[in-house]
Amino acid sequence: MTIQWYPGHMAKARREAKEKLKLIDVVIELVDARIPLSSRNPVIDELAQGKPRLILLNKSDLADPNHTKNWKVYFEKKGNAVLQIDAQKGTGVKAISQEVQLLAKPLTDKMRAKGMNPRAIRALILGIPNVGKSTIINRLAGKKIAKIGDRPGITKAQQWIKVGKEMELLDTPGILWPKFEDQAVGYRLALTGAIKEEILDLQDTTVFLLRYLKEQYPERLKKRYGLTEISDDVVEIYDEIGKKRGCLMSGGLVDYDRVAEILFREFRSGMLGQISLEIPTES
Ligand code: GDP
Repeated sequence: MTIQWYPGHMAKARREAKEKLKLIDVVIELVDARIPLSSRNPVIDELAQGKPRLILLNKSDLADPNHTKNWKVYFEKKGNAVLQIDAQKGTGVKAISQEVQLLAKPLTDKMRAKGMNPRAIRALILGIPNVGKSTIINRLAGKKIAKIGDRPGITKAQQWIKVGKEMELLDTPGILWPKFEDQAVGYRLALTGAIKEEILDLQDTTVFLLRYLKEQYPERLKKRYGLTEISDDVVEIYDEIGKKRGCLMSGGLVDYDRVAEILFREFRSGMLGQISLEIPTES
């Protein structure tokens, strides 16, 4: 699902997330491990203020493991608990409940000190569209949870999903809007499927991807597209891949849109290998 964000939508999403946050003890923030900063919205810091937070680097199966390791350290240094997961396969998902318990320890200790029996810790999944919120909720629930929009006109009451004995998860996630303030952020969001690629110029997005791959993963480009060398000129690489893949129009001109589609598809499905589009500058 991809959402076009308008100021009205943003205000509504923020209001809804704020309402949900009133009920919860621990915030679980889901980000895309390939673009951990671009897939966040800084408004979360304001929304989740004062609540312990667990950051999940999701889709880690598609991200470069070396960079993911450094991203984990990066966010931990900022005081967050961090787990790297693959919600689709379920890798790392088991550890979530344990982390949430640890984060909520001050709260359970307080309840015990008051002579109360600690109740289950309530958590909420928050993140921008397409980072895998529904996938992880279904994983944690151990079954498919109906989405709110499934039956038009019917607003489902919010429910808590039991995850083990000590954690409860709200069955609908909090949705944050992606931030577009910088062109590179937009390209990264489009390439990872967080926003519709049509929002940006297809060929500009391709040039962005090729420039990045040329710098960070030249050998992968060479191997995948049978290039003998990597030109300094990104448009030349674009051309060469088009020719190699037979993306030609009448007159032998390269069909750049078709090349773009191939590159996007192969990048997203992991055919170019595990690639991170963002690298932590400090760790
Ligand atoms: P939501 O909009 O945040 O609820 O995102 P969804 O749960 O609908 O997931 C968006 C897409 O990402 C779906 O096609 C999922 O199958 C896919 N997805 C979710 N988690 C992972 C993951 O860890 N790895 C991979 N490769 N794909 C994932």
